[in-house]
Amino acid sequence: MTKKLYCGEVTDELIDQEVTINGWVHKRRDLGGMIFVDLRDREGVVQVVFDAEKNKESLQTAEDIRKEFVIEVTGKVVKRQPGAENDDLKTGQIEIEATAVNILSKSKNIPFEINDDRSVSEELRLKYRYLDLRRPKMNHNLKIRHQVKKVFRNYLDEHGFIDVETPFLTKSTPEGARDYLVPSRVHNGKFFALPQSPQLFKQLLMSSGVDRYYQIVRCFRDEDLRGDRQPEFTQVDIETSFLNDQEIQDLIEKLLKRLVKEVKGLEITEDFPRLSYQEAMDRFGSDKPDIRFGLELQDVGDIVKDSSFKVFTSVLEKGGAVKGINAKGGADTFTRKQIDKLQDVTAVYGAKGLAWVKVTEDGLSGPIAKFFEDGALKEALLSKMEAEAGDLLLFVADELKVVYDALGALRLHLGKELDLIDENELAFLWVVDWPLLEYDEEQDKYMAAHHPFTMPIKEDIDKLETNPQDITATAYDIVLNGYEIGGGSIRIHERDLQMRMLKALGFSEEEANEQFGFLLEALDYGFPPHGGIAFGLDRIVMILAGEANIREVIAFPKNKNAKDPLTDAPSNVFDLQLDELGLSITEKEKKE
Ligand code: ASP
Repeated sequence: MTKKLYCGEVTDELIDQEVTINGWVHKRRDLGGMIFVDLRDREGVVQVVFDAEKNKESLQTAEDIRKEFVIEVTGKVVKRQPGAENDDLKTGQIEIEATAVNILSKSKNIPFEINDDRSVSEELRLKYRYLDLRRPKMNHNLKIRHQVKKVFRNYLDEHGFIDVETPFLTKSTPEGARDYLVPSRVHNGKFFALPQSPQLFKQLLMSSGVDRYYQIVRCFRDEDLRGDRQPEFTQVDIETSFLNDQEIQDLIEKLLKRLVKEVKGLEITEDFPRLSYQEAMDRFGSDKPDIRFGLELQDVGDIVKDSSFKVFTSVLEKGGAVKGINAKGGADTFTRKQIDKLQDVTAVYGAKGLAWVKVTEDGLSGPIAKFFEDGALKEALLSKMEAEAGDLLLFVADELKVVYDALGALRLHLGKELDLIDENELAFLWVVDWPLLEYDEEQDKYMAAHHPFTMPIKEDIDKLETNPQDITATAYDIVLNGYEIGGGSIRIHERDLQMRMLKALGFSEEEANEQFGFLLEALDYGFPPHGGIAFGLDRIVMILAGEANIREVIAFPKNKNAKDPLTDAPSNVFDLQLDELGLSITEKEKKE
């Protein structure tokens, strides 16, 4: 068969030609003796006319046609009557005069209109996802996703990367999130885990000499869901041998520039900015800052420590921090009530209060203004906050983590509220120099900030046994518009160092061998220096498609409760299936 002609492709160029097209009936208007049908497929809509004077038989069939019937139409492409054109449509200058029509499939009344303008509950959309995907916007999102994957594949192929598949049924290893487990029938009582990422396999492929690996691969993490999380998500997973972190980042930066050029037509010529983790936290209160706007955090601890405002001074005495944001011009925009509402934003992160002052022509105003009226103190504060009359200054005083999180969230909130974000901008940046380990209070031990296979910087290796919290990792994240879209690192490629790292994470030698013996052994057999990165494909597509959650760019996602309303998974299984797996379900769980 030659190339298919889609409804959306029937334009003026085909005038006077006979065409045959298939599609779904989008709209139907019966004018008596004449019926107009808008026929839709993935490429758009075209108008078909059934006219008693031209073809009686077709008109009779058209009388039975209803919305969402699938039909085949043959007819002549003609110019529309003057005045009947629709300049918004690619096919708006023409219509098809039907000479034959075939009903290929009928449709019941559909649960919602196939229309981008109607708001339909997400639950209903997911239950009838196949109908939802008929909508032009969803159809467009699927195409963007395809295009993004194509750019990744083409670029990586051109740069010598080989696509290798790695197993889905694998061993449960602690990588940070909870595993999805798969019980084994053949080995009752034992479990596979679905991979949280192909991390260890891609490293092993470097030992095999693959040298440059990639895979567009599904990963599974049993986490509580948020807007940009799903139990199964897709990574573009990459690993290389013999390149240092800077070389990997250069390669990736070119790839991302190519991506936005091909998908969005945007040319980014400058290098992506690079911030250390610490600088990102200090300036933006976030390790994935949205740098499309300012409103940076200012540390005013040194200034307010001399004030008589006890709330600030007592926090500082306890080793906490006081930082603020200048909501430029916010003095008039925000009423007292609205400022109280801002407290809700910071309270989520544990901030006990949000202190504020307004800067006016006559000085400071607001409930705590009196503590800062003193000349030198006021001057220092205003200068640090780069404040002038009309500004609203907002402060959080608390332990450092709370200050970062609360002000980081407040900054994003204000950026939207004050309309400071250019939705068309794509602002990439690298966040580098991450801490290698984080102390987990609850578990009373160190956890890998990235994963346990990340190489510390050379100068810090010997701190593994003495002060693990001070080690910098050779890790890097790539951030776009406030989303972490990818992260990677140089890996450890020596057995001794890997063992030291695992010990720093609290593994005994025996436990390390039990969990990671296969990796440790592989490190004994000529393992090249290596490093890589993985991208969250769903997030990238979400941003490029201008969507706010990844479910909009996944054909068949789970809902917010990690369920699939379409198939009703997860669901019960037969007792026989459980018996074969050597599993039983408690009465309590059965009832739920
Ligand atoms: N496997 C890592 C992750 O999924 C990425 C990497 O280090 O390449 O976050």
